[in-house]
Amino acid sequence: MFDSQFYHKLIQELNTYNAALVAVSKKKPVSDILLALDAGQQIFGENYVQELCAKQPEITDSIEWHFIGHLQRNKVKNIAPFIHTVQTIDNMNLLAELDKAASRNNRIINVLLQVYIATEETKYGFDREEVVRLFEEDVMSSYKNIRVAGLMGMASNTNDTTQVRNEFNGLFKLFRDIKPELNKNIRPVLSMGMTSDYKIALDEGSTMIRIGSALFGSR
Ligand SMILES: *Cc1c(COP(=O)(O)O)cnc(C)c1O
Repeated sequence: MFDSQFYHKLIQELNTYNAALVAVSKKKPVSDILLALDAGQQIFGENYVQELCAKQPEITDSIEWHFIGHLQRNKVKNIAPFIHTVQTIDNMNLLAELDKAASRNNRIINVLLQVYIATEETKYGFDREEVVRLFEEDVMSSYKNIRVAGLMGMASNTNDTTQVRNEFNGLFKLFRDIKPELNKNIRPVLSMGMTSDYKIALDEGSTMIRIGSALFGSR
């Protein structure tokens, strides 16, 4: 169930940081999404292509879909007709495929580069040096149907808040360094922070948090 009381408190808190909210609706029914839309939420995040493509046509309200899961190249064509932002670009082949699919749909798709900041083996992303190099070499400018809006990262899943803070701080510094190279037509995005660590992320400069379980209940 959608927790509207928590939602409204969270929106107030986010306003003081001038940060945005992605409501992460994975594994939750369309009815929950409709409740959140009614409360004023616009941006929704999903992790699985099949689930997203099933939900998307069921909702007629205007909605900004963000893809936040691991995206396989052969699935790009399924979301290209409607996806607003892919937050999880973790290799250049994926970016090239998305550009091609966006072009076929006559669309511009926003992307975030996913950066590997955790100590866990299971997380995906570029490392910091790769991100710096991609911007130095201006690799992204050849993709005409892609807008690079910023960076996304996930901290380690640990109770050690100092470690989480350090990981977010590292990503913030990288964001600050590459910010002048980002697309000038959109507000730069630093997507970091989930239910367990969003307060730390906001303190460390997040401009967009991704909240699932605190809004919709545990999965
Ligand atoms: C599931 C997920 C979230 C939301 O996680 P919660 O802990 O439920 O808030 C945020 N970001 C990504 C990348 C996710 O996969």
